[in-house]
Amino acid sequence: MPADTAGRAPLWAFPSHKIRARSLVIGKGLKHVKTGKTMADSAVRVRIAPSPTGEPHVGTAYIALFNYLFAKKHGGEFILRIEDTDATRSTPEFEKKVLDALKWCGLKWSEGPDIGGPYGPYRQSDRKDIYRPYVERIVAHGHGFRCFCTPERLEEMREAQRAAGKPPKYDGLCLNLSAEEVTARVAAGEPHVVRMKIPAEGSCKFHDGVYGDVEIPWDAVDMQVLLKADGMPTYHLANVVDDHLMKITHVARGEEWLASVPKHILIYQYLGLEPPKFMHLSLMRNADKSKLSKRKNPTSISYYTALGYLPEALMNFLGLFFIQIAEGEELLTMEELAEKFDPENLSKAGAIFDIQKLDWLNARWIREKLSEEEFAARVFAWASENERLREGLKLSQSRISKLGELPDLAAFLFKSDLGLQPAAFAGVKATPEEVLDILNTVQPHLEKILEWNKESIEAELRAVAEATGKKLKAIVAPLFVAVSGSQRSLPLFDSMELLGRAVVRQRLKVASQVVASMVGSGK
Ligand code: GLU
Repeated sequence: MPADTAGRAPLWAFPSHKIRARSLVIGKGLKHVKTGKTMADSAVRVRIAPSPTGEPHVGTAYIALFNYLFAKKHGGEFILRIEDTDATRSTPEFEKKVLDALKWCGLKWSEGPDIGGPYGPYRQSDRKDIYRPYVERIVAHGHGFRCFCTPERLEEMREAQRAAGKPPKYDGLCLNLSAEEVTARVAAGEPHVVRMKIPAEGSCKFHDGVYGDVEIPWDAVDMQVLLKADGMPTYHLANVVDDHLMKITHVARGEEWLASVPKHILIYQYLGLEPPKFMHLSLMRNADKSKLSKRKNPTSISYYTALGYLPEALMNFLGLFFIQIAEGEELLTMEELAEKFDPENLSKAGAIFDIQKLDWLNARWIREKLSEEEFAARVFAWASENERLREGLKLSQSRISKLGELPDLAAFLFKSDLGLQPAAFAGVKATPEEVLDILNTVQPHLEKILEWNKESIEAELRAVAEATGKKLKAIVAPLFVAVSGSQRSLPLFDSMELLGRAVVRQRLKVASQVVASMVGSGK
């Protein structure tokens, strides 16, 4: 299968001087092209379309919240669609996690894979047969072509392009194969994909509700694969076909998709369909303005759940990125956010993910919005989540002589901050350099684990030990301190499972910083 099927156009693909933030054009008085109805008359339908390929990300909640508020504002529908065309990376476990995380956020959808709806199924892998006729139509009208290039040839081509300082792009080798040759090669069972044709010159001009008028030269757009060799559609084709069939009126998503709009508009055009309105939201950023990344900030929703953030506070925090409010008006419920939400007057401030602000809002929610009873109920629910309390007790039973010893032993399962100090590593028989090396080596390996449980964690750590020629014990000792904050606590692999990957990731990051401060300081 050609390796470029994900096919996201890079951000360089649009000239930055063409991109200007303007107010949205959707809304009052704007006529729907086909029906002549005004927006207020036609039913707004928006969607969140997550790919279940990893831990649910706060960025997904951010885009989902925008769509949710947009639907609420217009009395429309908010739909959930699972985009799992990347079969190698999508898993049912991640899908469940995404749904659970969005439910935890309080974002209710009216159609989705779990509840069905009039335009289902809502999972793209269950819609596989729907896409092929659309591809055939594109090919039959001469807008698409079959491509027999092997992954090896494509890689060589890209390598040469990179070496020449050019962005990688399909070179069109199969563009002009004769009809006879194509028929013969297909009949011979030769693996192939279907690509879309791209105009040779000119540019794609479109209006984006956030960016304003955008112009992207066709030259910067790749001949996107639409149908993969295994018959699965790519994201681009499935996304367009589904938005059409599910009657989506507005597509609001992250700005990383802006460069893909020309492909999408072209697919709509090739199929004779009306595109929806587009809104590309600025991505959330770290304090240094770089794209929000788990290396700098915890990005998994499960991290915030595990640490006892309230979903209302997280939604409040994310919602403030969309609305303009005066100082002192920050504490807002979902209803209040929806009231104040005005997509024609979005906040112009960049979406900087400032955890201190989230903490401040969370504290205010705990103090000002929860009754005593609600607070107690939230604490019990939080402690019992993922069986953390029950399992923690199970692991503790054989390790204490009085119940009062429990907090010292097991509190690390609940803490948001271990307050880790260099002294905690005193009993680890290794130099700070070695400990740092172990912590840094282990972290990327933990990211590779597909299903996070004690067995898979142990297996991965054993593999690390083997690959580095170290004893498992040597690897586990510093991890133990990093994860639990002390040298005496509960079994490591069980604890890591209970804490969840997002919390473990954060603890290892903090531990690396603590140990790095010891390196060279003689401690
Ligand atoms: N599946 C895409 C994602 O997870 C959705 C992009 C879109 O909304 O079109 O980012």
